[in-house]
Amino acid sequence: MSDAVPDLDTVVREIAEEMADRPDRGEVATYIPELARVDPKAFGIVVIDADGHVAAAGDSDTSFSIQSISKVFTLTLALGMAGDRLWRRVGREPSGSPFNSIVQLERERGIPRNPFINAGAIAVTDTILSGHQPREALGEILRFMQFLAQDPTITIDEAVAASELRTGFRNIALANYMKSFGNIDNPVDFTLGVYFHHCAIGMSCRQLATASRFLAHSGRNPLTGHSVVSPERAKRINAVMLTCGHYDGSGEFAYRVGLPGKSGVGGGIIAVAPEKASIAVWSPGLDASGNSHLGRIALEMLTRRLGWSIFGA
Ligand code: GLN
Repeated sequence: MSDAVPDLDTVVREIAEEMADRPDRGEVATYIPELARVDPKAFGIVVIDADGHVAAAGDSDTSFSIQSISKVFTLTLALGMAGDRLWRRVGREPSGSPFNSIVQLERERGIPRNPFINAGAIAVTDTILSGHQPREALGEILRFMQFLAQDPTITIDEAVAASELRTGFRNIALANYMKSFGNIDNPVDFTLGVYFHHCAIGMSCRQLATASRFLAHSGRNPLTGHSVVSPERAKRINAVMLTCGHYDGSGEFAYRVGLPGKSGVGGGIIAVAPEKASIAVWSPGLDASGNSHLGRIALEMLTRRLGWSIFGA
């Protein structure tokens, strides 16, 4: 048996072919009505290695709703604004609960467990909003995504944002509940408006893999040379992705894939192989924890074939 590492383009192409044929595709999210319209057969994958080589297959240039993947980038912005003070209003422990759970908030006095469950991400958005009008804060987030992805065409899907605004009763409850504990500074409607809109940013796998490069390369985009965050901060954001990026499926994701990653209910996942590559996959069908079913399987195949799990093998 040869122990040569297989060629990245071949692995990516083979994974996309295998995923196209699989009958098990999970269930597309329906609680945001606009997301229910997406084709469950879609599948895309993009891997960008340290040299900037792009391996892409499937629907790699189709734009989809990034949803909770946006929380990685709002966390990055909020840490830039508030520094370690951010951790006074949001924790960094896995929750073991679904992404939209309210149960821990009462016991923990309105301090969400981590920045990736909805309550935590809403508190993070509130941090970014303070001192700004909602429109300015949203513009700041969108421009950050465009800058990281090196693509000014990235926009917000207003239909998705409006759809979630109409049906986001749980998030409205979470935000009001945190406000009762003094952990939301701005009017709840303003904070939620910014939150729903940044979740509704539309991006492709190619744009997301590009935007995530700084996390794979110690805070720097190796193409542009731009330092986005310090190496220390990139390391910490990756740590929170590993432990909390997939909600109550985070342990399973670490066990099977072995990389820091963040999912969204639009079916996207970004993953980071430190010093090796940034990765984005998309398949709209979700598992019971709200994470892309085939996205996770594709990433598991990728890390196994390339030996990229951070835990070895
Ligand atoms: N906008 C979605 C929500 O708040 C994000 C959830 C997700 O992607 N897990 O419910």
